[in-house]
Amino acid sequence: MRCLLCGKFSFKILCKDCLELIPLEPTCRDLQGFKVYGFFEYGSVDMLLHAKYSVVGSKIYASLAQLALKVLKTQLKVPYNAYSVGIDDKISKQGYAHNAIFLRALKQVGLHPMYKTLHASNSVSYAGKDLEFRKRNPRNFILKRAVKDKQIVLVDDIITSGLTLLEAKECLEANGAKVLHAFVLADASTK
Ligand SMILES: [Zn+2]
Repeated sequence: MRCLLCGKFSFKILCKDCLELIPLEPTCRDLQGFKVYGFFEYGSVDMLLHAKYSVVGSKIYASLAQLALKVLKTQLKVPYNAYSVGIDDKISKQGYAHNAIFLRALKQVGLHPMYKTLHASNSVSYAGKDLEFRKRNPRNFILKRAVKDKQIVLVDDIITSGLTLLEAKECLEANGAKVLHAFVLADASTK
């Protein structure tokens, strides 16, 4: 196949040269004491993250997750012994759940994936909407699996306002879980 970015022949959807050019930029956002760790600046991967709406998206997400894991492995002194929960990891009409791909990659650092745990009952799009709109339209998560007494790391692809992650955290904690922090691929805050 050909590399999606440069068009050169490649065995993977993104060739090695292009992957190396994607800048890793570890970030940490503090949401009222809840830490959200990111790996890329949104501006450098937004085009790639939009691929979640296409069939090649699963491969692109796997490549980005792999890059993020490389960073994480060098920073972690001890692997986790906890669970990971993705935000609304329902299967899309493209046939996969993009957050499930990140969950699978995080197994490499000892996070046990709990697939299909948190589903949003309100999936209205937040794209281009302001904070007020987002507050008026919460995700209203439905818990699909028991989380009582589990230590959990939340996982999403992008953080913008952080409202969704906070809502997910509240839902899990109201059901007896301890939420440690969150991982996202990219931070889309406007700094
Ligand atoms: Zn390339």
